[in-house]
Amino acid sequence: MPTTISAHVLREPRGTFELVGGIELDDPRPGEVLVRYTSTGLCHTDLFARDVVHQDDFPAAIYGHEGTGVVEAVGAGVTEFAEGDRVMASYTSCGQCRTCLLGKPFNCEQFNDINFALARPDGSYKTTLDGRPVGSSFFGQSSFATHGLVAARDLTKVPAWVAPEDEHLLGPLGCGVQTGAGAILNVLEPGPLDSIVIAGTGAVGLSGLMAAAASGVGTIIAVDIVEERLELARELGATHAINGKDDDQVAQILDLTGGGATHAFDTTGVAPVLTRLVDGLAWGGQLGIVGASPGMTLDLLPVMQLGRRVQGIVEGNSVPRVFIPQLLELRRQGRFPLEKLVRTYPVAELEGAIAATAAGEAVKAVLVH
Ligand SMILES: [Zn+2]
Ligand SMILES: [Zn+2]
Repeated sequence: MPTTISAHVLREPRGTFELVGGIELDDPRPGEVLVRYTSTGLCHTDLFARDVVHQDDFPAAIYGHEGTGVVEAVGAGVTEFAEGDRVMASYTSCGQCRTCLLGKPFNCEQFNDINFALARPDGSYKTTLDGRPVGSSFFGQSSFATHGLVAARDLTKVPAWVAPEDEHLLGPLGCGVQTGAGAILNVLEPGPLDSIVIAGTGAVGLSGLMAAAASGVGTIIAVDIVEERLELARELGATHAINGKDDDQVAQILDLTGGGATHAFDTTGVAPVLTRLVDGLAWGGQLGIVGASPGMTLDLLPVMQLGRRVQGIVEGNSVPRVFIPQLLELRRQGRFPLEKLVRTYPVAELEGAIAATAAGEAVKAVLVH
């Protein structure tokens, strides 16, 4: 018996998300789990999908990829989840390629193909509307919906001690928050005597900043052009803030760090920002990059000459089932105040949440059912 669901559907590139009922969702196939979403975060990549990925010849599609919810049914062969389990969904990976087998699903060789897909890897669609296919495999979850089918391997169980009133904080852990925090804790790993410059204080940058603060990093410099965000960055542990419009940003970084930062983290994907971050690095310093823009370029001469390193990072190099519980534990200890980033909206107000995010009113918007 298919499940009838409602979802925000995008029908055309750069279009408006339209809340539609009467969509038929398949029964779970082997390895799949039927999840009733209770909330979902809004991530920049959803808007990238709306504006860049979705093509004129695509069928209507459901996006959203920071879903959390409750298991309603499981497909054949799923033994680790049962009806009623609270779960968080994260990105999907093939589980079979060389990098997946090496334990690095964030570098899955199929990552872009399957996370930006409309259909399952075998080409079948999970949802239909009036007999026509509707894409609902975005990041393996398409969570702008009441329900979705998610591969069991992409789900993480919510620890029993997490209070129901905190469940709306969980979805963003599956993408934006693990991207920022993982870049710091899994990749850059700055320590107490280190210094880090974090460019961009959106949800990803501030998650990285909270992780740096939780690591006891002595000098944490936030860079942004929005003064209110820099205020929030200070509240979350930035020791210094630099306005991204200043002409002397590199000089300020060199001054604050005594000659150059040991680490830098870019969430902007803006080429001149990247250049300034490299110029502000110490000898042997490392820059982690999670932001992206078409044609993003960087002069490698100042990287080579000072023995610096530049590292691209996907999903914070996070294995969600291993990493997300760590972030929840840090929050329980009061060292990762995720709630300060989140603002909730009723699920019907997706477009309002997008507008509030664009206006800088919401750092991390979460739609709650
Ligand atoms: Zn793979
Ligand atoms: Zn995302």
